Amino acid sequence: MSQLKPFEGKRALILGVANERSLAWGIAQVLHQGGARLAFTYLGEALKRRVEPLAQSVNAELIEACDVSYDDQINALFGKVREKWDGLDILVHSLAYANRDDLEGRFVDTSREGFRIAMDISAYSLVAVAKQAESLMQNNGGSILTLSYYGAEKVVPNYNVMGVAKAALEASVRYLAWDLGPKKIRVNAISAGPVKTLAAAGIRNFRTMLSAAEEKTPLKENINAQDVGELGAFLCGPGGVHITGTTMYVDSGAHIMA
Ligand code: NAD
Repeated sequence: MSQLKPFEGKRALILGVANERSLAWGIAQVLHQGGARLAFTYLGEALKRRVEPLAQSVNAELIEACDVSYDDQINALFGKVREKWDGLDILVHSLAYANRDDLEGRFVDTSREGFRIAMDISAYSLVAVAKQAESLMQNNGGSILTLSYYGAEKVVPNYNVMGVAKAALEASVRYLAWDLGPKKIRVNAISAGPVKTLAAAGIRNFRTMLSAAEEKTPLKENINAQDVGELGAFLCGPGGVHITGTTMYVDSGAHIMA
């Protein structure tokens, strides 16, 4: 395997590109530079128009719709991947959702339905796609990557139910790593510092979070999608072969601060 093209011939399915700001797009670009073959999903017709040209610019071999709230859409997606590639090496799960109302005010006011939706889309979906990926990552194992945030561990005002969903996501990473480890399938999360993306725009006072992060981190600067891509490539690539079940930070050191 060439060091310049560590992903030559590797097949990577990327869930969660909405536009050129998406963290998933940062990961896709680094994998592409490393020689990976890529497939993308999009959520709904409106985003299809944004995702298609991006995917085509990195020679995507498959571009499919998938709303992870529906098992039949997940099944159909992996059916297409099987038909196209008959296998899979890398799965990137870079998506989350909570009702806007639940991302402001008090966490104690979260409704049963709001809690269910955030958990289902932001945490359970990783389990559902990992199960499908398992059957495609048969021979040489593979790597599954998801995206988390520090609000999983500590209270971040306005992150609310998403913090609880991210805590469930990080715990799911550990249990999936244990289940899939014997098949050499690794499962890891990246805990990223704040980046201005479409999803981030749903969080009240996100701008304050951004400027606070810049001020309070040891490195005194915010991260970007490419930083996430570089760490993602490390975890999915040769450097990560014995790393599984972990959550790694790319946050300019924010998580060490009291
Ligand atoms: P983004 O808006 O670019 O990506 C979020 C993606 O989730 C979108 O592509 C959207 O289509 C997808 N999505 C939402 N509901 C879905 C569903 N039901 N089915 C399928 N896809 C669905 O924003 P992003 O910031 O790149 O978010 C990607 C991941 O990174 C999320 O898990 C987010 O929580 C996490 N994250 C973001 C930040 C940040 O500051 N931007 C920091 C840490 C972690």
